[in-house]
Amino acid sequence: MTLRSVSTLNRACASVVASVRPQPATEHHRRRLASSLATHLASRRAEPQQHQQQQTPAKYSIAIVGGGPAGFYVAHHLLKHRQDITVDIFERLRMPFGLVRYGVAPDHPEVKNVTNTFEQVLANDRTQYFGNVEVGKDIGLKELQSLYSGVVLTYGAESDQLLSVPGEFPGPRLSDNKHPSLAELHQADRSAAASGGVISARSFVGWYNGHPDQTALNPSLTRGDTAVVFGQGNVSLDIARMLLAPIDALQRTDMADHALAELRRSTIKRVVLVGRRGPLEVAFTIKELREMTKLPGVASTLKRLELTPEEVAYYNNERPRRRLTELLVSTSEAAQSLTLTPDQRRWELLFQRMPDGIVRDAAGNVTGVRLRHTALQGAPGSRSAVALEQTEFIPCSLVIRSIGYRSLALPELPFDARRGIIPNIKGRVVTPSQPGEPTILPGLYCAGWVKHGPLGIIATTMNDSFATSSLILDDITKQALPPSPVASSASPSALPQFVFNKQAFLAANATELAAGTAQERPRIKMLHADPATLADAQSETAHGAN
Ligand SMILES: Cc1cc2nc3c(=O)[nH]c(=O)nc-3n(C[C@H](O)[C@H](O)[C@H](O)COP(=O)(O)OP(=O)(O)OC[C@H]3O[C@@H](n4cnc5c(N)ncnc54)[C@H](O)[C@@H]3O)c2cc1C
Repeated sequence: MTLRSVSTLNRACASVVASVRPQPATEHHRRRLASSLATHLASRRAEPQQHQQQQTPAKYSIAIVGGGPAGFYVAHHLLKHRQDITVDIFERLRMPFGLVRYGVAPDHPEVKNVTNTFEQVLANDRTQYFGNVEVGKDIGLKELQSLYSGVVLTYGAESDQLLSVPGEFPGPRLSDNKHPSLAELHQADRSAAASGGVISARSFVGWYNGHPDQTALNPSLTRGDTAVVFGQGNVSLDIARMLLAPIDALQRTDMADHALAELRRSTIKRVVLVGRRGPLEVAFTIKELREMTKLPGVASTLKRLELTPEEVAYYNNERPRRRLTELLVSTSEAAQSLTLTPDQRRWELLFQRMPDGIVRDAAGNVTGVRLRHTALQGAPGSRSAVALEQTEFIPCSLVIRSIGYRSLALPELPFDARRGIIPNIKGRVVTPSQPGEPTILPGLYCAGWVKHGPLGIIATTMNDSFATSSLILDDITKQALPPSPVASSASPSALPQFVFNKQAFLAANATELAAGTAQERPRIKMLHADPATLADAQSETAHGAN
């Protein structure tokens, strides 16, 4: 796609957006949103649901915080099982669907088909969508609780785990802080990208998927030929695949155009995935591993795996682990007879190494990573890594940490900082267990990654979300959840203009799909990084610029 057509698309998308947010949320701004939501809810309570044969006035109203898979699956389940519920989904970004849109790899379009179900949820008369509304900033949790029968927190994991080694961040500012704020992490990621430093997988994945927070990341992929990725899970394999896959294949996906342009120029030829533990502890699944071993033009240069009889006995007893390990063993055997050309793209797994430091030159640019060898303790499958004296240096120009996402605390909500989740009992939010017994907070629920931690595929998230919504349905049946606290009224609703509503989503979605069809791609994503960009695009459109 040419730069000209990208900007044409961005202008077209901008024209469907209702309005822009002129300034960050203020007290006045929040009060306006809360009061217009109250009016809006009241008018909806007065309207019988048009689409049903037997018209049932809405009685219970549920607010969902976070428009990712967890939020949409909770909504889907609630709407399916009761006709007297309305569901309002609040999403920080304009476009919904969370990591399905901004996490799942662009070359896995089949995974994104789950959005068909989510779009049905949006099409339901009893659902409203409030995009571009960040709960905790634009509206408080307590305000939502005062307006709705219940609130479900499904806001995912917006931060990530740090390596916590010297040199991870260019400056000293973050080195002592185990849990920096999201703004600090974004800033650190941007400086790291500029100096070929340590970038979080979250940012890198967001960058190639067109996440509005990461369009300005600009990682340099032309400073050298080796990238080191810390972590041996599916996200690490996704990243290795994106760095090494033939660009022509990626060109046919919905990958962001800025990422396609940088990957086309990329000089990265070798990707090393580093893990603290051994081959029996890798966290990726066989489908992703097989895909990696079959990547056209890319060699799997694994060292020969030498497993002990105890290790073999362990994996033979665990079917998924056995298939995975057998593929690792056969790939490593095949690698011994490979003949590599100097320009050959390749990937490898390095086991029993932990990060010890990020090495930079005088200008602050990353020149390599220092790794410490580890010994494994415990039974195979649940071993822990213990640091040894021996270290080694791997020269590289790009380092990505992919050792886990992490949820953030929300104002006015209990948070278990140690586990990085909302404290809950099977999805009911509780006050922290220390010093006394946990107390259930009525009407407050959670689901998805913020409930159980950032692990699991979409199917896991779906089951978990259905379990939480079953609790809500039970509470309604037992009259433990009050009807919507907002009285019925026929007054028309008026929401602040910055809210990106259902109509704006439908228009933006249609524009993205049409732009994609024109280029034989699934879609071309709207990339408005911030309101200022959007405002520029809008004013350009208003002035009829081409
Ligand atoms: C890189 C990557 C690739 C993956 N690939 C696959 C795959 O191929 N197949 C698969 O099955 N699974 C995959 N997964 C897992 C899958 O994405 C998760 O299981 C799922 O997205 C978790 O859903 P969630 O709703 O809990 O969180 P999320 O998807 O993160 O959704 C949370 C939503 O909440 C919003 N939000 C955050 N804070 C606020 C706030 N304060 N107010 C309002 N909204 C807020 C966010 O913007 C986001 O839209 C992948 C995960 C990652 C990280």
